[in-house]
Amino acid sequence: MVKILFYDTKEYDKELFEEYNKNYGYEIKYLETKLNSETAPLATGYDAVCIFVNDIADKETLEILKNCGVKLLVLRCAGFNNVDIKNCPEGLKVVRVPRYSPYAVAEHAVALLLNVDRKIYKAYQRTKKYNFTLNGLLGFDIHGKTVGVIGTGKIGKVFIQIMKGFGTEVIAYDVYKDEKAAEELGFKYVELDELYRRSDIISLHCPLTEENTNMINKESMDKMKKGVVIINTSRGKLISTEDLIEELGKEKIGGIGLDVYDEEEEFFLNDMSNSYYRNAGLSILLSMPNVVITSHQAFFTKEALNKIGEVSMENIKSFFETGECENFVN
Ligand code: NAD
Repeated sequence: MVKILFYDTKEYDKELFEEYNKNYGYEIKYLETKLNSETAPLATGYDAVCIFVNDIADKETLEILKNCGVKLLVLRCAGFNNVDIKNCPEGLKVVRVPRYSPYAVAEHAVALLLNVDRKIYKAYQRTKKYNFTLNGLLGFDIHGKTVGVIGTGKIGKVFIQIMKGFGTEVIAYDVYKDEKAAEELGFKYVELDELYRRSDIISLHCPLTEENTNMINKESMDKMKKGVVIINTSRGKLISTEDLIEELGKEKIGGIGLDVYDEEEEFFLNDMSNSYYRNAGLSILLSMPNVVITSHQAFFTKEALNKIGEVSMENIKSFFETGECENFVN
């Protein structure tokens, strides 16, 4: 029987996979701890290891997993920037869930945008206290604005579709242009500089790579319109936290909605409210007006979770029964 070790699991992961495993009957153990080089030896005797976005599968960790006898690394997510694919040892395959619900993430990006723009976070706190004033809640119409989308893959395209429904002009940048989609959805590809210069709202929907790490930095923010709203549901390291804090301080950036953060690993998805352990950048951002932060929850809809459960189990079945899988990353 295939033995699978799950890292970084919460109650909802366990519930989900226990349900899906009824059709497969694998032997599964759920760990709360994250995968890294120190916890990798726990996988001794397991055939597969299942991880999420904040587990660290660097070269050393992958080698330990391979030496422990693990044959398959199962990502129960789409992004794989946390896995050192280039240095993945021979005989250890990596699979992912390439598409679970682009709607979940795109709709969350829109939720963040509306929240930042219309200051719902502030209004909610006020009305809870029976304060019904409007001071400081002034927003802007999204209709008629120019929206810059970086990354026009599955999520970016859904986001564009929704933004078109708001009556916006959408301009986009991608390293691979999908001109057919541009024509069908009614957006235009431009170079990054033009996107920075013209956009009232910028939403990031590209994967994190070596080339685009910290792409939103002082230099790129200098090119943006004063008061631009930035939304990041992709990966935290696309934005330089230090530069962002500085530009927010100068009111160059009008507001930001973040579902991901540069150093989120130790914080996001965990209850740290009773701990004294803090991250300086995160604390400054949380204390600032017009910064709305959610805890990597954009994927978290029933539909997306079901797809993650279904595809992950099928990935495992396919690999152990046939040696093949349509969702290999390496
Ligand atoms: P996708 O692969 O369908 O699309 C990504 C697009 O980005 C592609 O068109 C690609 O050509 C483009 N791209 C690659 N490098 C680029 C660069 N340097 N500049 C501009 N464009 C670039 O992926 P997707 O399903 O749309 O997901 C996008 C990202 O969303 C993922 O990589 C992941 O980081 C993030 N994500 C976040 C959550 C969440 O819960 N917050 C959930 C799922 C995915």
